[in-house]
Amino acid sequence: MTLSNSAKATLFNLIPPATVAAIVLFWSLAPQAWVNSPWSITCVIVGTLAFVLALEWVNERHAGWRLTWREFFTDAFYVLLGFTAIDWASTHLAVEPLKSVKAALHISTPWLGQLPFLVQVALVIFLVEFGQYWMHRFMHNVYPLWLTHAPHHHITQLNAMKGSVGNPIELFLISLSVVALFDFRLSAVLAAGSAGAAVSVFAHANVRSDPPRWYAFFFTTIQHHSLHHSVRYEDTLCNYANSLILIDRIFGTFQPGEAVLVGQDERKRLSVREQFLFPFAPLIAMIKARRQPSATT
Ligand SMILES: [Zn+2]
Ligand SMILES: [Zn+2]
Repeated sequence: MTLSNSAKATLFNLIPPATVAAIVLFWSLAPQAWVNSPWSITCVIVGTLAFVLALEWVNERHAGWRLTWREFFTDAFYVLLGFTAIDWASTHLAVEPLKSVKAALHISTPWLGQLPFLVQVALVIFLVEFGQYWMHRFMHNVYPLWLTHAPHHHITQLNAMKGSVGNPIELFLISLSVVALFDFRLSAVLAAGSAGAAVSVFAHANVRSDPPRWYAFFFTTIQHHSLHHSVRYEDTLCNYANSLILIDRIFGTFQPGEAVLVGQDERKRLSVREQFLFPFAPLIAMIKARRQPSATT
């Protein structure tokens, strides 16, 4: 039996909402021991990445974005960096200090944990995305911050793991949120984190899938996010929301459309070393320029 093209398209268009729903359902039913294990969210996110990579394999969006081994290993390195160094930095430099502030100021919101599970998930997604939206928007409009974010825009194709690619300073800054100040149920925080991550994975993926309009009204899709990765810098000043495109609609930065060619500076691909050094490039150039006259005399 073979699926007709329109049935196949409809099926693929429904995969992002079905995946997000499955992830939220998983956390709502997960036993407390799974919720308490730090490995559970890692398994959910890695499982989502593997699933979306398989979808890229069977139904790609653009041949020009097809994954090569070089792209795969670079992307996998950044996924690993996210689960290790970036996670360590955000836990110790942001979440734990915030918890200390919460204790010192006696901030207590146990009523939040009593709200229906889905309401808690929606509130956490909104809180996280609201902060990320403004951080991301500042990154595009404040030059020193742009230097940290530009490496993410130097990627020249979009794939499932590309959301993890960027300069480590940017990856740390974009991970910041105020959620640790509130008493949500841990399962709701994990559901929001992994559902948001799944939306972002689909928004970077080379999969021929255009989710239904109701989904694309609330959540970022590959159409929205590919436009954000446009070649002209001026064209990147839209669709900042990582997962909740509704925030762009609220603040007037939403743009419809889609891009196929992506990448800054005439689509110059950066090596991992160049991505790490990028924010310091003006400083390195200044030091080199100062050294040059003395070297010639
Ligand atoms: Zn950006
Ligand atoms: Zn991106």
